[in-house]
Amino acid sequence: MLNAVPRPLAGRTALVTGSTRGIGMGIARALAEAGCNLVLNGRSPGQQGEPLADALAATWNVEAHYHAADLRKSSHAERLVAFAQEQFGTVDILVNNAGIQHVAPVEAFADAYWEEVLWLNLTAAFCTVKAVLPAMRAHGWGRIINIASVHGLVASINKCAYVAAKHGLLGLTKVVALETANDGITCNAICPGWVLTELVQRQVKARAAASGMSPVEARMDLLRAKQPMHEFSSIESIGALTVFLCGSHARTITGAAYAMDGGWAAH
Ligand code: NAD
Repeated sequence: MLNAVPRPLAGRTALVTGSTRGIGMGIARALAEAGCNLVLNGRSPGQQGEPLADALAATWNVEAHYHAADLRKSSHAERLVAFAQEQFGTVDILVNNAGIQHVAPVEAFADAYWEEVLWLNLTAAFCTVKAVLPAMRAHGWGRIINIASVHGLVASINKCAYVAAKHGLLGLTKVVALETANDGITCNAICPGWVLTELVQRQVKARAAASGMSPVEARMDLLRAKQPMHEFSSIESIGALTVFLCGSHARTITGAAYAMDGGWAAH
């Protein structure tokens, strides 16, 4: 059965940050299915990166490893890239996905949260891109996908650090695309709207607690407040878009921001 599955990225190696759950895990699965060897990364308590790497390797007949780098620190970002290069010789595909959210009005937004959100959602991507580019240039091939957000395109109240970081990530994406335009490397961003991961479940819970709504009502209320299409995007769809952006038909797509947001940014 495995031989019947097309494996357009067979032999490539991918590093996906924040891939032990949620969107990053969906992307890692899709890349493994497409034939990529993988380095997974993630930090949240209770996560089991190594068993996940083993399961992906066994299911898709690829090689997969896990590294617990804390991407709030530049030295860890560099160590993560070095680990991936030690395992596979090079990183062909870099997916900057790790991210966190903190919600508060600007005047009440703690400096420490501002720094943490900016580091993880933006500075970590700068550090990993900087570390992978020399080898990508040497090989004449590379794909960089930054998981931004619809909040890289539009703003919402109470999300100053996240909106600033995601707008910044789109800026970084464009600069890297320009600087690598004729080197066989592309750099693009994906901008999801709502995806029902732990990051969003926390916002649903807070909405339910503040309003007295049931969790199901709060979920629909959250969706309807911003997104014209009342449907969550799936981690599988974001994984499929990532695989497309790494494939040969996407080789002239660079510096782009792909919204997968149920029409949110069309407002
Ligand atoms: P999630 O909370 O489910 O997963 C986040 C991942 O990042 C986990 O694997 C976690 O271990 C990892 N992580 C957290 N802190 C880390 C650290 N210090 N170092 C390394 N890894 C760390 O979140 P998600 O919803 O899957 O979000 C993934 C990305 O997608 C984020 O960049 C987020 O901003 C973006 N995004 C999510 C949504 C959504 O609706 N869920 C929408 C738009 C954009």
